[in-house]
Amino acid sequence: MVKSVQDIEVEGRTSLVRVDYNVPLAEGTIVDDTRIRASLPTLSYLRERGARVILLSHLGRPKGKVQKELSLFPVARHLESLLQEDVLFAERLEEAERARQDLSPGQVMLLENLRFYPEEEHNDPSFSRRLASLGEIFINDAFSVSHRAHASTVGIVQYGGLPGVAGFSLLEEVKALDRLLHPQRPFVAVVGGAKISDKLESLQALVERVDGLLLGGAMANTFLLALGYELGDSLVEAEERGHAWDLLQRAYAADVKVVLPEDLVVAKDGHIKVIEAQAGVPSGYRALDIGPRTLDAYGQALAGAATVFWNGPLGLVEKEPFHEGSVGLARLLAASSAFRVAGGGDSLALLRRFHLTHAVDHLSLGGGASLEYLRGDSLPGIEVLLHGKDGQP
Ligand code: ADP
Ligand code: MG
Repeated sequence: MVKSVQDIEVEGRTSLVRVDYNVPLAEGTIVDDTRIRASLPTLSYLRERGARVILLSHLGRPKGKVQKELSLFPVARHLESLLQEDVLFAERLEEAERARQDLSPGQVMLLENLRFYPEEEHNDPSFSRRLASLGEIFINDAFSVSHRAHASTVGIVQYGGLPGVAGFSLLEEVKALDRLLHPQRPFVAVVGGAKISDKLESLQALVERVDGLLLGGAMANTFLLALGYELGDSLVEAEERGHAWDLLQRAYAADVKVVLPEDLVVAKDGHIKVIEAQAGVPSGYRALDIGPRTLDAYGQALAGAATVFWNGPLGLVEKEPFHEGSVGLARLLAASSAFRVAGGGDSLALLRRFHLTHAVDHLSLGGGASLEYLRGDSLPGIEVLLHGKDGQP
């Protein structure tokens, strides 16, 4: 297990904290501050102990160039309002180097978007050492970027030689995902979303681990297509049909119970009806949600589950009434005594929109990192915390 911020002397020390403040922005306004809030437990812990806090993050993909619209400045202002405290903002590294000496205990400084420097994503040794020289200890609280070997996730420890530990948000994520890697059984996964091609690798990994696999959303259409059903004008990825078929075979061979949509909510020009999946989607109609019988089948499959993982909405949730299947699933989960984890940007947005975040035990903010972790892969940003500078524990 990685060492946590609680296992290291933090009193009075200058801590470099890698956070994930890659938040959605619309014209300089933060649309969703979940990721910022996720860092607050670690920040409070450090500040209460008089640590000086230097925050490192990226925002978007500026590809090594300064891009004003990807500045973290609005995030610094928002953090000030959450902390009720001034937050220094260092637009350039030189500024941070000057200001660090004058930080008072508990004071917080946020650096500008690190991906404005090409050295960040290259995990450049001298850039890493330069970042490391800003602080005395390194805390990774950004699970979601830990699958990337960048200067701010790996280099600070690898090249800069700082002692590295995990923050509370990262630990919570790892703890929850470990319970999926070593699940209490039965373990059931629900996977929806738009594209099977996005989720294929995860699905392949899940098939090896779960006892039940419930498939919904547009993604399930391609499975139905593989079974020879008509899909009308629904979203399908015909070229993935073979992969879908292989996956069903693997599930069958591994004795995994697969539940595909038995009925579908279909629509054409505002006309909505429920059809049997087997009967086929009439031409001109699109399958936009799972039907009520499918939800019942999900309910039965989830009834005895001890562990549940959900990723991807089961319908076109942005549009009424095609959120109903997904909200129905969330209600089933809310009533379940299983250990439940939900992940995926759109799935979490749905849970928030309908005030159903309590339906699960853990909201995984990890995105791609979670999926890599669930494949059983080790993540470089976590490895470096385990093995330190020279690969020595
Ligand atoms: P997540 O972000 O939770 O991982 P995805 O990004 O994979 O989820 O998929 C979410 C998208 O899938 C949503 O925009 C949703 O509207 C879309 N979607 C799900 N089911 C359907 C469907 N039947 N038809 C069209 N779009 C769908
Ligand atoms: Mg998404």
